[in-house]
Amino acid sequence: MKNIIFQTPTCNMIELNNLFIELTAKNCNQRCKHCYIDFPLSKQVKDFIPFDNIKKALNDTKNENIMCIYLTGAEPMTHPDFNLILRTCLKRSNVCIFTNGSFINEKKARFLKRVEEEGNNEIIFKLSIDHYDELKNDEIRSRGSYRTVIHAIKSLTKYGFNPILSITNYYNEDKKTLINEFKKICIKAGFDAQDNNFTINEFFDKNKPVCENIDYSQINSDCKYGRILTAKGIYSCPFLANDHRGRCGSEFTDFARHNTLETNFCEACMKNKERYFGINFNLFQ
Ligand code: SF4
Repeated sequence: MKNIIFQTPTCNMIELNNLFIELTAKNCNQRCKHCYIDFPLSKQVKDFIPFDNIKKALNDTKNENIMCIYLTGAEPMTHPDFNLILRTCLKRSNVCIFTNGSFINEKKARFLKRVEEEGNNEIIFKLSIDHYDELKNDEIRSRGSYRTVIHAIKSLTKYGFNPILSITNYYNEDKKTLINEFKKICIKAGFDAQDNNFTINEFFDKNKPVCENIDYSQINSDCKYGRILTAKGIYSCPFLANDHRGRCGSEFTDFARHNTLETNFCEACMKNKERYFGINFNLFQ
């Protein structure tokens, strides 16, 4: 009988350009059906990352070519020190906020514009919305979430922001049709959105078992260009934040620049072709 040795595929990071910071692992005011996070029943979890961990990470990565810092969660805008964290990160690079938009109204957008104008870096918003039809969107995200995000779009664009709509293609629809329909609702909201204002990701079913024999050689994944800091340490990407399979160390003074590709999340990255989380800045030049 032959001995078969299975070797897990690995990914070597090319450069640390994207620094993801998970401001909270479980605190979110919504419970979207398709979210990759396993939420507790309570919405009152207070698991916010301490500000000192962020300051240390920024210092430890001072020699890295960080092009964008991404504030992620669960919902990052629930962090009690959100404004302080945002200002601190903006001193270092552009900052992208991944949000469901519930905490953005006109007053907040005006304030965020003032914060952005304090320096030279930009605040970019990735707003989660999953369908142009209100009922279909709210069916998976939660009742009222469609109107909330439309209000956030209106408020942000009023103050000169150019948000990206982050769409999970839960209903597996044609991407061109999705973008055209989303453009129509943006126009109604007073926002002349272009193709680069949309990122469409494949729906990822976290309960699906991993396939075998996947060819990862052409993968364009977030772990090639970034790492995520959480309250527990450094991980390969937001999907694997706080998951031992994505563990890359406890601090940025000494972290792993390679990781294994062994989860069903990795399989989703392979199929998605585009990076799930990082922004493709080439599209904006
Ligand atoms: S889930 Fe994607 S980004 Fe994360 S380690 Fe796997 S391939 Fe890399």
